[in-house]
Amino acid sequence: MNTDNIHLLLIEDDIVDQLAFKRMVKSKNLPYSYKIANSVLTAKEILSQENFDVVITDYDLGDGTAFDIFELIVDTPFIFTTGAGDEKIAVEAMKSGAFYYHIKDADRNYLELLPVSINKALKEKYLEKLQKQAEIDLKESESKFRTISSAANDAIIVMDYEGTVQFWNRAAEKIFGYSRKEITGKNLDDLIVPEDANFYFLKGLKYHWEKGINSALGERVEMTARKKSGEFIFVELSISAVKLKDQLNSILVIRDITVQKESKEQLRQSKERLDIILHNIGNGVVAVDCDLKILFANNKTFTLLGFLNKPEEINDLHSLLVNCKNKGITLVNSLEKESFRNLELTVVKPLQRVMYVTATPYKDMNDKTAGKIFILADVTREKEIERMKTDFVSSVTHELRTPITSIKGFTKTMLMNNNLSENNKLEFLEIIFKESNRLESLIEDVLSIAKIESGKVSYKFKKISLAPVIEHVYNIFKMQAAKKDIILTCEIAEGLPQISADQDAIHQVAVNLIGNALKFTTQGGEIKVKLYSENNQLVFRISDNGLGIPLADQKNIFKKFYRVRRPGTEIPGTGLGLSIVQEIVSKHRGKIEMESKENAGTTFSVFFPITENQIS
Ligand code: ADP
Repeated sequence: MNTDNIHLLLIEDDIVDQLAFKRMVKSKNLPYSYKIANSVLTAKEILSQENFDVVITDYDLGDGTAFDIFELIVDTPFIFTTGAGDEKIAVEAMKSGAFYYHIKDADRNYLELLPVSINKALKEKYLEKLQKQAEIDLKESESKFRTISSAANDAIIVMDYEGTVQFWNRAAEKIFGYSRKEITGKNLDDLIVPEDANFYFLKGLKYHWEKGINSALGERVEMTARKKSGEFIFVELSISAVKLKDQLNSILVIRDITVQKESKEQLRQSKERLDIILHNIGNGVVAVDCDLKILFANNKTFTLLGFLNKPEEINDLHSLLVNCKNKGITLVNSLEKESFRNLELTVVKPLQRVMYVTATPYKDMNDKTAGKIFILADVTREKEIERMKTDFVSSVTHELRTPITSIKGFTKTMLMNNNLSENNKLEFLEIIFKESNRLESLIEDVLSIAKIESGKVSYKFKKISLAPVIEHVYNIFKMQAAKKDIILTCEIAEGLPQISADQDAIHQVAVNLIGNALKFTTQGGEIKVKLYSENNQLVFRISDNGLGIPLADQKNIFKKFYRVRRPGTEIPGTGLGLSIVQEIVSKHRGKIEMESKENAGTTFSVFFPITENQIS
């Protein structure tokens, strides 16, 4: 409110009154700037051009009365002056909005009071203006609040001290199913707060009612809430306090998080499922970011890459490849490629293993490559089989070629040479016969293993005595042994029980084991074949004092196609004999053991169980 310069309009037709006013302003040194109108007409003219802080007007103005100009001065406080005896008019003027009236006295003492009235009028006008502005502001902020709260997706609820609802926005209607009309004035916790959540809810309310401070719960709280339909939903609640009309009110902001909660739960479940899968599959799975930092590696990865336990200090891909050949250079060199399949990675420590690595990139939210996922598949066995098969093929080819060349050569000689002596012919025929036998046994071995591999072997179990089978095989090899100057003996215990067995299969076991002994025993050696019973088992034992098996090869000799390499003294074979034996023995629920010393000899012992019903 500015009182340094008050702009006044004095409407007065009496020249003496005008002078008295001027004198008073001057003598009191009042901060007034003023204009004087001496008629209704002039007053109207001035008011149409200028605004004044206060208008002082006389009632009787010659060309009209003060009432004629009231309509022009609605917003400006005016003070009304009138002659004595005109109080009735003065009252009328007050009714029309005049701030004050002064009755003119003959000595013009009323002028003394005029400045006070002017100040009061100004003050009142100022306060009135402030109040009006405050009302406008309040209305504006109320309408803002309503607009915001009705546009909000969260329920906004205002409750009074009693806990009854004062305000309930559109989102609250949508979330809880109660209309504003239905819920206003009702108690909220009876309606939407389930019993188990009451504790938090009431605690929150009580807290801020007592303290009267902003956030009641200090943070957002998750709880369940009940809808009008009775259905329960998950909500996130925050409560704060505001003072409205000197009363503490609670403002509740409630967000329906049911969908988030459910999708979070689904996410958790699928993560758990994924974790179980990743930690239980036979492949290694590693995820790295663009800097090759390891984000995830399943347990199998560490086993495959030669770590005994999950190492603690591993954080990037390079540290994961320390046990690989040349620190995994094959993989490291391929990292520039976005993806690759079946890249060979060799682990050298602690055991040699071969891995196939497949890399696939994964993207971030912006569809940019964020890293790679590597899948490691252990192909050691496949590689070994591959190698063994190649060995086998070349070995079989070699084995087939030798007898065939021999048969072909001798047959050709016989065909082309008509005058061969009978002795020569006989000798050649014997060779052809021997080579044919060799061919036959080779083909049989290959067929047996093929049958075993394809699972097509069917054993014909019958109660039989093993003695005649072993004896028969012994007789077959006796001649060969004699030719090689090897002493082959056979010792079969008396009265051995019969066992349930497949005769042909047992025959093959004996042929393979005695045959091997002969093959790997040098001239002048000795082979002992024994069959006896011990600890409720039939024991078939073949001992020789031949080449023996080097220690490093001993664990492998039962593997298919495995053959001990003996550079210089390569002895023909397919590497199938012992695996066929092992397969047959296990089908008879027996077991086979081997003891050997290089250059000293080998003993194979086969144990067949004798069960009650097998004893004859
Ligand atoms: P093959 O005899 O056709 O090579 P086997 O599976 O019968 O295949 O035998 C595998 C390997 O075991 C042979 O290559 C041989 O080196 C070794 N072996 C088997 N029996 C004996 C034995 N009595 N003495 C020495 N080495 C043997």
